[in-house]
Amino acid sequence: MALVNEHFLKLPDNYLFSEIAKKVNAFKVSHPDANVINLGIGDVTQPLCPAVTDAMHRAVDEMGARETFRGYGPEQGYMFLREAIVKNDFLPRGIRLDPSEIFISDGSKSDTGNIQELVRWDNSIGVTDPIYPVYIDSNVMIGRAGLLNDSRWSNVVYIPCTEENGFVPEIPEKRVDIIYLCYPNNPTGTTLTKSELKKWVSYALKNDTLIFYDAAYEAYIQDPDIPHSIYEIKGARKVAIEFHSYSKTAGFTGIRCGYTVVPKELTAGTTDGLDRISLHRLWYRRQCTKFNGTSYISQRAAEATYTTEGKKQVKDTIRYYMDNAKIMYDALTAMGLKVYGGRNAPYLWVKTPDGETGRRFFEQMLYNARIVCTPGEGFGPSGEGYVRLTAFGQREDCEEAMRRMARMI
Ligand SMILES: *Cc1c(COP(=O)(O)O)cnc(C)c1O
Repeated sequence: MALVNEHFLKLPDNYLFSEIAKKVNAFKVSHPDANVINLGIGDVTQPLCPAVTDAMHRAVDEMGARETFRGYGPEQGYMFLREAIVKNDFLPRGIRLDPSEIFISDGSKSDTGNIQELVRWDNSIGVTDPIYPVYIDSNVMIGRAGLLNDSRWSNVVYIPCTEENGFVPEIPEKRVDIIYLCYPNNPTGTTLTKSELKKWVSYALKNDTLIFYDAAYEAYIQDPDIPHSIYEIKGARKVAIEFHSYSKTAGFTGIRCGYTVVPKELTAGTTDGLDRISLHRLWYRRQCTKFNGTSYISQRAAEATYTTEGKKQVKDTIRYYMDNAKIMYDALTAMGLKVYGGRNAPYLWVKTPDGETGRRFFEQMLYNARIVCTPGEGFGPSGEGYVRLTAFGQREDCEEAMRRMARMI
C-alpha cells in the first residue's frame, strides 16, 4: 500500500478564501445586475508593456527558425538575464553580486515554497503575522510547522505586526532558526526602514538564523530610505536568501518569471556542529534535479524590463497603481477609517470600524457597497479586525468603490 504524506492532511482547506469566493458567487447569482467591484484580488490588471511584448515576439520568431531555435536552457537561467539583474537591480544600490548567485525562477511562489527543502525538518521557524500563507503552508507539508490549534501552528513563532507596534515586528525572545520577512509587506502594505531591517540582520548574524526575504513588491517603494534589497544591509549576504518576481513589478503573473539570490557566503551548519555547508551549493544541486529552467521567451521578456523604454513603461504602470493607492488612501482616511500601507505598496490595510471582525466587515462591504475585499484573518491571527484592499483595479472602479464606501460608512 502506498501511504500518503499525512502532513498534507493537517492543512485545513483554505476555508476563509473559499468561503469568500462562495459568498461573492452567491451574491452575484442573487443580484445578477449588480456591478460588483473587486478590490480583493492580488493580481495585476494592466497589460504587459510594449517593450516586453516586442521582446517576446522576437523570441517567438527565434524559436521558430532552425538557426536560432533553443531547447533546454541552463537550469539557473540564461546569462543575459542574470547579468542584467546584477547590473540593474543591485549595482546601482551599491550591492555587488556575481551572476552565478542569481537563480532565475518561474516566479517566487514556487521558490519561497521550495526553499525550505534545504534545511532540516526540525528547524524552528518564525513568521511576521499577518503574512503570505505560502511560507507557513509549505512548512506544514513536510511536518515542520507542527499542529494547528486555534489558528496557530504549534512549531511556528508568530511575530505580531499590528497598529500597536506600528507594524514593525519585534525581535522574538525565543531564538528561531529561520525567519520569513516580506517587505514591502503583503498583506499590510507596510515597510521597514533600513535601521529596522538592520536589527533583523544583526539578530540573524548573532543567532545563526537564516532569513528568507521576499522582495516581490520592491518596485513599489517610493520613499528613499526604504531598502529595496536586504543586501543593502552589511552582513546580510552571510544570512539571507532573497526572492524577486516580475509578477507585480511588470505584470508577469501570467508569463512567469522571477529570481532568487543565494549568496556564496551563506552557509548553514551540519547536525554534528562540525561543518558549515554552502546553501548556494545545495540550491544549485536542487535546481539541477528538480527544475528545468524558465522558458526562453519569459526570460527575454524579463530582460526587456531593463531596457530604457522597458524601465520607463514599467514605471508608468506602477505609477498608475500607486495613484490608485493614493486616491483610495485619501478617500478612506477622509471617511475616518484608519488605513495603513498604500504608500510604498499596492495594498491598503484598513482597520474595521467599531472593532468588527474582518469577516463581518467583508460582508457589509459586499452586501451594502458591492465591493469585494479580503478579511485580514485569512493572513494569520493578527489580521483579525482588518481588511485588505488592493490598488490593482481600474482607476474608475477604485473611484466608484470609494464613493460607495463613503455612502456606506
Ligand atoms: C505575488 C507575490 C509573490 C509573487 O508570486 P509569483 O509566483 O512570482 O507570481 C511572491 N510573494 C508575495 C508575498 C506575493 O504577494
